[in-house]
Amino acid sequence: MKITFYGAAGCVTGSNYLIETEKFKFVVDCGMFQGSKTLKENNYKEFAYDPKSVDFALVTHAHIDHTGLLPKLVKKGFTGPIYATEPTVDLLGFLLPDSAHIQDVEVMQKNRRNERKGLPPLEPIYDEFDAQKAISLLKGVKRYDAFNPVPGCTVKFYNAGHVLGSSSIEVIIEEKGESRKIVFSGDLGEKDHPIVNDPDQFKQTDYLLVESTYGTRVREEVTKEERLNKLADVFARAIERGGNIIIPAFALERTQDLLHDILTLKQRGQAREIKVVIDSPLATDITRVFTRYPECYDEDAREILQKMGNLFDHPDFRFTATVEESKALNEEKGIVIMSASGMCDAGRIKHHLKHNLWKPENTVIFVGYQAEGTLGRLIIEGIKTVRIHGEEVSVEAQIEQITGYSGHADQNGLLEWMGSIESVRGNVFVIHGEPDSSEGFASLIQQKFGFRAIAPKMGETFDLPASVKEAHKQEIKPVYAMSGVAQVPPQGPDSHNLYAELMLKLAEFMRYTKDENKRRQKLQELLGRL
Ligand SMILES: [Zn+2]
Ligand SMILES: [Zn+2]
Repeated sequence: MKITFYGAAGCVTGSNYLIETEKFKFVVDCGMFQGSKTLKENNYKEFAYDPKSVDFALVTHAHIDHTGLLPKLVKKGFTGPIYATEPTVDLLGFLLPDSAHIQDVEVMQKNRRNERKGLPPLEPIYDEFDAQKAISLLKGVKRYDAFNPVPGCTVKFYNAGHVLGSSSIEVIIEEKGESRKIVFSGDLGEKDHPIVNDPDQFKQTDYLLVESTYGTRVREEVTKEERLNKLADVFARAIERGGNIIIPAFALERTQDLLHDILTLKQRGQAREIKVVIDSPLATDITRVFTRYPECYDEDAREILQKMGNLFDHPDFRFTATVEESKALNEEKGIVIMSASGMCDAGRIKHHLKHNLWKPENTVIFVGYQAEGTLGRLIIEGIKTVRIHGEEVSVEAQIEQITGYSGHADQNGLLEWMGSIESVRGNVFVIHGEPDSSEGFASLIQQKFGFRAIAPKMGETFDLPASVKEAHKQEIKPVYAMSGVAQVPPQGPDSHNLYAELMLKLAEFMRYTKDENKRRQKLQELLGRL
């Protein structure tokens, strides 16, 4: 039996692992590469394996970096079942067509540019038809119910506490009279996260794939009460200023987490004046999926559900349905507008920022991680002017940040999860992290728990011997590394990000430096260096 790492190895996105036995083949996750342009270019490459030869797929959770290339897998000939929990299946019913739509718009824009440059047009990675075909192959499974996708293979989904429906997956494979267990952690949530339950833990496995987004980082601990107090405090100050409150939030989980916290405040008699408009059709659809699965909520969330009717059904919450309704929000005052994308690099949030950033009475609240090179990151770093849809917008609004909503366990959380595992007979593969994070966490696992751990690189294949005893005699090293697989850029911003930042800084310099001599001197200096 062999495993090959085709994504989220040496980077966080593009999760995709292929397991090959003598009798069958399957993939776990088939995600899109996100982030820098260099990473995103991988989405356009051919798969390094033949999708027709794959018997089935398992999906840990609905995030696009774990599922976004399922329609491409189908487009390239995969016809097998795709197993996921029922909430994940429902969420993908909205997320995959949305992803197809985004491809469409992106490729159209790229092609307009390519045409002007005299370059050949690009084909979208997939279209809505492929997304619908992928959706038709989805099979919903219940957590903790074991099933056999093929003879000799038993699969069970557990809770990973990351987003609604998110799972760790246990796979038991019988081969040559030997049975081997592989646990795929999936993305692991942190304890006390709003709505979802804390992750399940494991006692024993032969092989383990564990995520390491925060493998070397310890976040400042924010308790639920601290998070709620901060939110109440920011709201109170924003209301005093009298303007609008803009919250960029991911459509899946972050939007619902915030609504949950706002309801909790309201239940305690706080944030009474807060009226929220959810201006994201995707977030609206996803919120509807949440209302179908109260059994996936933790006790606190269920309690609110009972006391306040339906968790997301409150007179102070409004969901916009049409573009006209969304545009009409420009005329309103004193409301909270929650919209996607969470990092402000696409979607309706850009319109709202354009209309609200330049007014000092408004407030923008960031509740999530802002990746390098995104508009959100520039704003929290204190840039004075931003460009949105080709227009310069001055940043005058109050900028606030609230931590405590992270969807990922930090190093302490990951170590605690690992701590319940008493034995790993084979070895641990540390994945889904930047190289220093995965490698750092792999050595920590060796030191702390004495398990053999390695951070595989993109395209590396490892033998998982039939006898786990054999595995221990061998050194863990790849049997081979494929060439032509996904490329991982070096850490930090790539050249495209640096170029964008340089242009913005230059525009800012020209705007605020009025002295002609200073301007000429600086610009000549810069030109001389190029
Ligand atoms: Zn995720
Ligand atoms: Zn992920």
